[in-house]
Amino acid sequence: MDLREILEKVRVPPGSKVKLSRFDPAWPGTAEMKHLCGDKLKMRAKRMIEQNVHELANAQELLWASDTYAMLVVFQAMDAAGKDGTIKHVMSGVNPQGCEVVSFKAPTAEELDHTFLWRVAKASPSRGKITIFNRSHYEDVLIVKVHPELLEQSKLPPGKRGKSFWRARYDDINSFEQHLHRNGTRIVKFFLNLSKDEQKRRFLSRLDDKRKHWKFSMADVRERGYWDKYQSAYQDMLRATSTRWAPWYVIPADNKWVARAMVSAILTHEINTLELRWPEVNDEHRKELAEARKRLLSE
Ligand code: ATP
Ligand code: MG
Repeated sequence: MDLREILEKVRVPPGSKVKLSRFDPAWPGTAEMKHLCGDKLKMRAKRMIEQNVHELANAQELLWASDTYAMLVVFQAMDAAGKDGTIKHVMSGVNPQGCEVVSFKAPTAEELDHTFLWRVAKASPSRGKITIFNRSHYEDVLIVKVHPELLEQSKLPPGKRGKSFWRARYDDINSFEQHLHRNGTRIVKFFLNLSKDEQKRRFLSRLDDKRKHWKFSMADVRERGYWDKYQSAYQDMLRATSTRWAPWYVIPADNKWVARAMVSAILTHEINTLELRWPEVNDEHRKELAEARKRLLSE
């Protein structure tokens, strides 16, 4: 399957009433198939990531040199879907000076005193940089939608918290992202789509392995109890906020290597669409370079 086909498969078309169930978390195969060709699949994925990491590192240098565009990459997922590992692998070759990862947790008192977009606006990338959001402003239409009582802490003016309240939040998000796009920030959003069974397997493996205990939290199991509500919030979010300027990609996440390879391929593709070039050197600068060479050689 070539990249174009993969993109078509996982990209959420803007304005569509897409069903989350259309996306298979276990793609490209059943557990038996993965067992049979697991190693081969992993090797192919690793090779693909290596290639993309190299391309992404080059593209990032160009992004930095041209100082016009920035890139914002959003990751959202249920717990244990592999956000951290994906970020680590995909960004492994990129110059740390041009790249930042920002994690968004439950908002602080100061953050709650502002609108929900305040903290993300502050953290969005400056020109030339790639910023990765590990969770994002989308938590405010996911966990907060699943647990509307969280809204009580945000000291909003009184009003109904029904459909039109959430519609307004999606509209605000779309406008905010369009504003970033118009000013040079390219946005790519990934939903790592994990199945409920695979999440259970990963939680159990964290419990079985002492080195993974730090990763385990009872809160994760509690949130798992709201699985269907989360799926429905994710589906609403995908339908309302996949736009021309900030598309969502639904990445099959049951196989970690498939997810990582897909994310790296899509990111590389997106950054390459900018068709960045090294900045042009004007005549005056060219003269300066010649003068510098002359001086150095005559030392
Ligand atoms: P890890 O994968 O290491 O567990 P994590 O991203 O799950 O990382 P945690 O500290 O476990 O980090 O969880 C952060 C929690 O903060 C998540 O449950 C998330 O839903 C919650 N959170 C993030 N943004 C908001 C928000 N705006 N309102 C309420 N809760 C939020
Ligand atoms: Mg967590």
